[in-house]
Amino acid sequence: MNTPQMTYIKPRDKYGASLIFSILGLFALMMFILFKLQNSEPAPSQHNSFIVPPVTHKPIYLMTSKPSALLYAKSGHSLEEYTAKIKQFAKLIHSLGYTTQLIPSSKLSSLPKDAILFIVDAPAMTQNTKNAIKSFVQNGGNLFFNFTAGYSDEHGNYLGSTFVHALTGLSLNKRLGFVTFKDEKNNGSLFVTPKLLSPLSVYLPEGKNLFVVLYDKVPLYDTPSSLQPDMMATSYSQATPPVGTNAAKSIRQQEAGMAWHGYYGKGKWIYTAIPSYSFTDNQEQKNDFKKLLSGIIAYLAKPITAKIYPFIDNKGAIFISEDTEYKFTNFERFANLAQEYQFPVTAFIVANLAQKPEHKEMMQRIAQNPYVEFASHSTSHKQIVGKSEAYIIKETAGSKKILDRFASSPILGFRPPREELNDLMRKHLAQSGFAYILGATEQRLYPRFDKPNLLIIPRHGTDDFSYLVNLDWDQDQIVRQMINETNFVTSLNGIYTLSIHTHLFAYSTNINIMKKYFHYLSQHPEFKVIGGKELYQKVLLAKHLNEQLEQKGNRYIMSITNNNNVAVNNLYIQLFKNPKTKIIKGSVNNKNITVKVNNNQNTLFLNYVPANTTVKIYFTLANNIKG
Ligand SMILES: [Zn+2]
Repeated sequence: MNTPQMTYIKPRDKYGASLIFSILGLFALMMFILFKLQNSEPAPSQHNSFIVPPVTHKPIYLMTSKPSALLYAKSGHSLEEYTAKIKQFAKLIHSLGYTTQLIPSSKLSSLPKDAILFIVDAPAMTQNTKNAIKSFVQNGGNLFFNFTAGYSDEHGNYLGSTFVHALTGLSLNKRLGFVTFKDEKNNGSLFVTPKLLSPLSVYLPEGKNLFVVLYDKVPLYDTPSSLQPDMMATSYSQATPPVGTNAAKSIRQQEAGMAWHGYYGKGKWIYTAIPSYSFTDNQEQKNDFKKLLSGIIAYLAKPITAKIYPFIDNKGAIFISEDTEYKFTNFERFANLAQEYQFPVTAFIVANLAQKPEHKEMMQRIAQNPYVEFASHSTSHKQIVGKSEAYIIKETAGSKKILDRFASSPILGFRPPREELNDLMRKHLAQSGFAYILGATEQRLYPRFDKPNLLIIPRHGTDDFSYLVNLDWDQDQIVRQMINETNFVTSLNGIYTLSIHTHLFAYSTNINIMKKYFHYLSQHPEFKVIGGKELYQKVLLAKHLNEQLEQKGNRYIMSITNNNNVAVNNLYIQLFKNPKTKIIKGSVNNKNITVKVNNNQNTLFLNYVPANTTVKIYFTLANNIKG
């Protein structure tokens, strides 16, 4: 078989010999800065340092590969460049407080049994090396590898994803293969988003987009049903996979995986499709990549990792809301649909319209509907940003005064007209008792608390204005896209937010789009529609919960601390451990608490955690892995 073009393994030219890479790098950086500037929301404060205490004092090994160095040399680079690359990654690991050690591929058999081995950018390996790596993992080793690992033999003959496949079960995607994102309209490069319920995102709890600097094509894979990606290639809104330049068709959800973890014999592995320089070359998000790497190392170092569900009892939540404004009476159609399907929805209501005499009866009827939560979409729906403080008070606090008269309990939610928000608005929203805001598209999956203590729910779903006006799609096409977006965002354990309008999706036959979507959700109990107040409550509770896992031999003590002043009910914890090691014995330090272990799903369930209490769960792992 002929060797395909080897451009995909070209290392980054650090020393300026190749101008094209520098230009592309500069271009990516410029696009990134431009994109940052366009993002009107102020970025959360970037800390200059990021330190998580190291989880092991043993050295972390990095493999050096002579055949890979020779392969790079073939494409016009020096051996020193290859070594410099490995050393650069070692330096990154070192900056996290770990000691590192280089090990030549010929010496792998001398590795300690339970060592952590990083194989960084090693496209070419001999069969002996591949066998040594496999038996290292098989016997309890912990492996990180990436990009085109083992795609060639020592002579540079192309072998494809066979080595990656042997360890992980992943195969290079036949439809698209390698994809470039270089001049994609999505700001020039690739975003990846770590899944919330993943050991990799232990230190990235918000599901923030990572901007991946790329000078090469990246391989796309078909994920077998036994695996779930820990990281996905996403668009800026995080609601869809991105579009690649050589992908005539868009990338599908099942093709968008960028990192996975799994087990092979007694050992475990993490594989990512992105090259090593992606971890080091984004200066803007340097700390986020360090957090990602810290999660990777922690997972490799520890036999078991635990994560609390992002929404307490829910892997993925769906928030459905209406901007209740023009064509106001369509509100009742939306409300009736919510009641028919028994899905809690949230209505952001323009207060002046609600208090019109001709709407009074309808408002009173809907107030009786237990599935509709009232919230505010300002008093007059006119521009607020840039206006006087008195005007801002009228549009924020003023709207609450009006709408609280209709609602059965004080409203908590606000959606700013034009999705515009400034400090003065935040101040008066918080002072007048608002607790959460449905904002604009943000680069995160999970709601965040903003000063002064307002929960900002990010918007992900394409809105009805785009569907009906910009895209002009037919109904079935729209419903399909809504379903795809729902599946995509919830597969990352993010909250899918769908925001519609009285004069668009609630209008005339357009309501059938919502009906079809609701019908789909009703057929899929894995989705959980959640109202604004409940969402706020759950995120607030989750914020003040933490988990700690201590190991004593094969005994474990998991401490769940509830720092809330109220009890937390129905708490789920996801465990990441070798599926062959079952939890066999367990006990808890409080007789009133029931703990359920689901060994198939690797979850722990606690029926309740009392307020301001630490619950300790003691358990043992059965060590029945056959080597
Ligand atoms: Zn509006």
